[in-house]
Amino acid sequence: MLQDEATILLAELDGSKKETMMKMRFWALLVASGLVIFSAGAQDYPTRQIDLAVPFAAGGPTDTLARGLAQVMSAQLKQTVVVENVPGAGGTIAANRVVKAKPDGYSLLITHIGLATAPSLYRKLPFNPLKDFEYVGQVADVPMTLIAKTSLPPDNLTQLIAYIKKNNAKLNLGHAGLGAASQLCGLLFTSRIQTEITTIPYNGTAPAMTALIGGEIDLMCDQTTNTTNPIRSGMVKVYGTTTSKRIAVLPMVPTLAEQGLKDFEVAVWHGVYAPKGTPPAVINRLVTALQASVQDKQFKKRLSDLGAEVVTPDKATPASLEKKLNAEVEKWAAIIKKAGVYAD
Ligand code: ASP
Repeated sequence: MLQDEATILLAELDGSKKETMMKMRFWALLVASGLVIFSAGAQDYPTRQIDLAVPFAAGGPTDTLARGLAQVMSAQLKQTVVVENVPGAGGTIAANRVVKAKPDGYSLLITHIGLATAPSLYRKLPFNPLKDFEYVGQVADVPMTLIAKTSLPPDNLTQLIAYIKKNNAKLNLGHAGLGAASQLCGLLFTSRIQTEITTIPYNGTAPAMTALIGGEIDLMCDQTTNTTNPIRSGMVKVYGTTTSKRIAVLPMVPTLAEQGLKDFEVAVWHGVYAPKGTPPAVINRLVTALQASVQDKQFKKRLSDLGAEVVTPDKATPASLEKKLNAEVEKWAAIIKKAGVYAD
């Protein structure tokens, strides 16, 4: 129809005097048509499936959170949000893929604290976490637990520390790669007890958990979204939580702090991101959907049953996530520099 209008417009005009006016009107019409199409696109968003990249293996903590979120976001957005597991390099492969994706709101990333540690851990990070994303908002905070295979002899943290110090050469700790929360927590723990142990990376803590239950690895520090059920069913041994208070769903598990590891607090915060340049109208739509999702009773319960806490709506905003990421990049830079760990 717009093309027809342009043809009529051109046909209507004759003579050289009208030429300038004709060109101006023609271009004005084209520009206007472009704007109409663009704004209609953003307003109608989403019109098709949205991909949500998860930087770790299926069945693990980030995947569990992402699948719960995808379900409520799908209902809110009236389009399917599909979780895609893109594991590797501690979460940076998935992040890089979303950075490079078309900024149209159909490629999103859910990731955790690892986005804040990556700039300090990776010398050659191919993207800038602080510049290459549009922020959607925070999703949840998840505490961690220090666990072991059931056959590991120590029965409490004091015994465990003594045992590690004596047997460190033959012990190992599984994690989800450099930059994963499990790696960070393991690193903080071993540096705190001033004893090095071999670490074994997996694509996520879901496969690492399988290895731990099977006795292939000895220890792991992992989020409660992955550990609550194995702890409850006695499939793994637990030495403590990384919280200041005991976790409601694991009341029998003491905190590491109450057993003497003062200030050993690690909470894994998660956020949703879109590629830089995603239109503001699309981001606003996602933020509205995220805010409704974090108030969804079933989603909140599903997570709290696993020891996690879905954020309040004021945190499910771009401004709150931006502030959090900036603060955490700075915080972990100092800690990682002191620990002296890098990847190329
Ligand atoms: N969040 C990771 C996962 O889903 C584990 C980690 O960061 O330690 O496997």
